[in-house]
Formats: sequence, structure tokens, C-alpha cells
Amino acid sequence: MRRPIWCPSWCFLFLAFTRNGVSLTSAWGWKRSIGASQRSNLLITSESDTSLSLTKSDHLPRGGAVLNETSLNDAGKVAVEDPAENRGPLRVLFLSADTGGGHRASAESLAKQFLIHYPGSNYELLDIWTPCGVYPYRTLVPSYQHLSASPKQWRVLYHASNTLPWEILMDLHSTFLCEKGIRKRIAEYDPDVIVSVHPAMNYAPMRSAQKLSKLYGKHIPFFTVVTDLGSGHATWFQKNVDKLYLASERLYRLAKRRGGTPDDRIVMTGLPIRHDFTVQADLLGRDRYSAFGKEYQKQVRLKLLPGVDPEKPVILLMGGGEGVGALSEIVDELYTTLVLKGVDATICVICGRNEKLKDSLNNRDWSSVSEKLAAGNRNKRRKKRSRWFGKRPPLQPIVKNEQSGKVDVIGLGFLTNIAEYMVASTILLSKAGPGTIAEAASVGLPILMTSFLPGQEAGNVDFAVEKGFGEYCDEPVYIAEIVSQWLEQPDLIREMSQKAHAVGHPEAASEIVQDIGSITHTWKVLNKQA
Ligand code: UDP
Repeated sequence: MRRPIWCPSWCFLFLAFTRNGVSLTSAWGWKRSIGASQRSNLLITSESDTSLSLTKSDHLPRGGAVLNETSLNDAGKVAVEDPAENRGPLRVLFLSADTGGGHRASAESLAKQFLIHYPGSNYELLDIWTPCGVYPYRTLVPSYQHLSASPKQWRVLYHASNTLPWEILMDLHSTFLCEKGIRKRIAEYDPDVIVSVHPAMNYAPMRSAQKLSKLYGKHIPFFTVVTDLGSGHATWFQKNVDKLYLASERLYRLAKRRGGTPDDRIVMTGLPIRHDFTVQADLLGRDRYSAFGKEYQKQVRLKLLPGVDPEKPVILLMGGGEGVGALSEIVDELYTTLVLKGVDATICVICGRNEKLKDSLNNRDWSSVSEKLAAGNRNKRRKKRSRWFGKRPPLQPIVKNEQSGKVDVIGLGFLTNIAEYMVASTILLSKAGPGTIAEAASVGLPILMTSFLPGQEAGNVDFAVEKGFGEYCDEPVYIAEIVSQWLEQPDLIREMSQKAHAVGHPEAASEIVQDIGSITHTWKVLNKQA
């Protein structure tokens, strides 16, 4: 098998720079040309006008189509003969890969909105690297699966690749070697619009879209929807995208600093989550502690957990799409602490594709687990090295309640109705995945984050903690203590829930798609005129 060597990348670098017609110095300048940060142009989706109007930077010729003053009517909008055209179906190409479950979930949530707002649309989800890439790019998915299970290796790779020289090198190297193949795949689908929901799918495919636009004499708009929350890899942020959709101020600052993306191409919105969450948030009345919300939650509990007392709080444990994390240990500690403290609860564990864990939880002898753990010293089971936000004091021995708590443990496989389970729950325990955090916020669910992937997920922890609906703890014994304390303070949980509701943005996917659809239709009109 022929494997291009990484080290002599200087040759590639030279060739790539020559091929791409830019000098090394101008590339540095390109990355650094951030400009004065004028936030006045910044669009906030919820307030933005999603009609057929483009921003100043769109008044540039793109692939044959031109937006100039003559294209605009008196209202400053593109003149369209048949208004029905604006709602016509679109061919949408999503760029994503199964590195974690979040990118696919976001693409699917956007796809669903295209079908709602632009009926008859069709879409394809393309992982450009697996079919069109050379080594090492084509191994993106298996490499991620391996590295995400080894956080130390992942941390080194993430931080090394998140530097400017690496970014430039990789952008040019991958474009030089793979852009032609990517362009061919894009041309085969012949999209009206390309939407990237993956950090590794921006630079090279954007160049392909530009080349195809020139070739066909029509502009194919390229949008990036960032599916991270608190931090993001530099490769997310490109300067020349049609629009860049961001879910937090933290990402906005990164986009300005790392991508130099102009304000009028940045749209502040929420993270796109599945339509189910919009439906469930509405059914909860956007307040899970209102009488209406509580009644709906009870109905959902009766439906999902038949035979379980619907008045008991539900603790939902998720390990991400792949079911990773020290779930088993956490459940053991949680069960023991709640039983000893006399707190009734139902523990639902989403094991993802980890069937072994699911079977083990459903068949575990829980009384012997709690007897064994209760006999030991909790502090001896604490981790020596923990990623605390400050040091926590030693745990006090549990004061055993006269009446043991009635605790049920239910192991579940991969679920497609996570939104309902989140509605049924009182507290979520999860790794700090951006999708999961945004989903929890949308239905007002407080979250205790139990692990994070170094690099892109560290900022998610800060985001949830700063916004007041989350806390971080990676020690199973302490996790159990925190959860039991929260359950003993309903007012605290309620306050966290309200803060989560305030941050949640269940309509984000719909707003993003209406914006993208509107701009794409505008370009379709201009492309026809060209
Ligand atoms: N998920 C799901 N069913 C499951 C477990 C997880 O649909 O049984 C979804 C979850 O709702 C979320 C996604 O998988 O949308 C995980 O995405 P996140 O961004 O939180 O983490 P990632 O897996 O991408 O690292």
C-alpha cells in the first residue's frame, strides 16, 4: 500500500502553496487578518430577517452569479418572479463523519428541518475522507474511535493539530492530495447547497465548491454549522464560508481569533438538535416544574418505565453515542449511596452499543454490591488524580437512614427517543458531549458531567458550569454524593432546571435551516440570471 510520508511535507507544502497560488506569508496573513471586531453586523438568528436578503460580503461575484444593486428590488431584496420558488425543494449535501454521535445527530436534525421548511428536498450525508481521502485522512473514523478511548493520546494529537502551522500544513496537504476526488463526489451529487457539520470537512471541500462554482458558472453556497459548544478546533473556522453558525460567545471569540471570519458571515444561534426536543420542550410547557410540566413528565414516566413509581426521581446516565465512561462503577456507587441514605430513585443507564454493560446491569445482584461497598471506606475509593475544579474535602461517612431507599436500576441499549428519556429524568449524568448538553438544556435538565474528551469537550464543561445548570465530577464516589445531595434539595434542582431552560435553544435547527434555505434560494435566482 502506498502511503504518502508526512515528514517531507515541505515538498507538499511547496507544491501546495504553488498550486493554491498563495505564498507562505500571505497564508499567515490570511489567518491573522482578523480585522477590527465590529459586532454591529453580527446576526442573531432569533432576531434576524430570514427573507431573501444577503449581506454586504455576499455582493461579490461568485461562480458566475453576481449580486449587485440591479438584482435588488426597492426593499433591498432579490427580485423573485414566483414567490413559491423561495420555498421550493433543495438538494442538500451534508459533510460529516461518525466521529462520535453528535455530528450525525446534528446533520439529521438539520435534514429534518429541510424537509419541513422546503418540502420535497433531498439530502445526502457524505464523509469526504473515507471514500476520497488518502492515508491518514481516510482513517478518520477508526482513528477517532481508537483515540477517543485513549484520552492522553487524543489530548496530544488534538492540541498539536490545533496549532496554526499544523492547520495550514494539513489544509494544503489534504487539498493537494484529495481535493480532486472530493470535487468529483460533490459534482456527482450536484447539490444546491453544501452544509458542513464536521471540523475536518471545511477547507478542502470549500475549495471544491469554489472550483465547481467557477466551472458551472453558478455559486454553490457553503455553510458551516459548528456542532461544538464551549470550544472548537481551529479547522471549524474558515474565512470564506457563506455563513458560519455558532452556539456560544466562546465560539464566536474563537471564530474571530482563529478563522478571521468576518462578523457579517457569523450567525449566533444554538446548537442544532433533533426536532424531538422542540416537540418535547413544547409539551413540557418550557418549564418542567410547572404543574403542566410535572403532569406531562409523569405521563412520560408511566409510558417509558411501566411498573416504576412515577413520583420517584429518575437519574439518567449516558456515556455518549458509544457508551463509554466509567458507567458501571458510577452506578454501583450511586445505588449504594441512595439506598443507605434512604433516597428513592430510578437509575436509567443508556449503555449505547455496549450490550455487555447493559446485560451486566440488568442481572447484577444489587444487594451484594451495596453491602460490599457500604462495608468499605468511601474515601479509600476516591481517585488519586482527578480533574477537579479545585480540591474537594474528604467525604463524611454516610449516616444510614432507618429506611433503605427503594432504588431501581434499568440498563438500556442505544435509544432513538432520548428526548423523552430526558423529559422523564430529574438529573442527567453524562460525558460532556456538546449535543447531549444542548439537548439537556433544551428540556431544562440539570447535568452532572462525569468525563470529557480533552480538547474540544473541555470548553463544554465550562459552558454548562458557567451557565449554572451543570457541574463536573469524575470520581464515582463523589458523583454519588453530589447526586444524593441534589436530590435532597429540590429547590436547587429546580433552580438549575430554570437556568438550563434559559440556555436551551430547541428551535436552533429550524432557524439555521430557514436562514440557509433563504440564502440558497437567493443564489438559485441569481444563478439563473447569470
Ligand atoms: N445518543 C442517542 N442515543 C443513545 C445515546 C446517545 O441518540 O442511545 C445521542 C445523544 O442524544 C446525542 C449524541 O448521541 O445527540 C451524542 O452526541 P454528543 O455531541 O453529546 O457526543 P459525541 O458522541 O458526539 O462525542
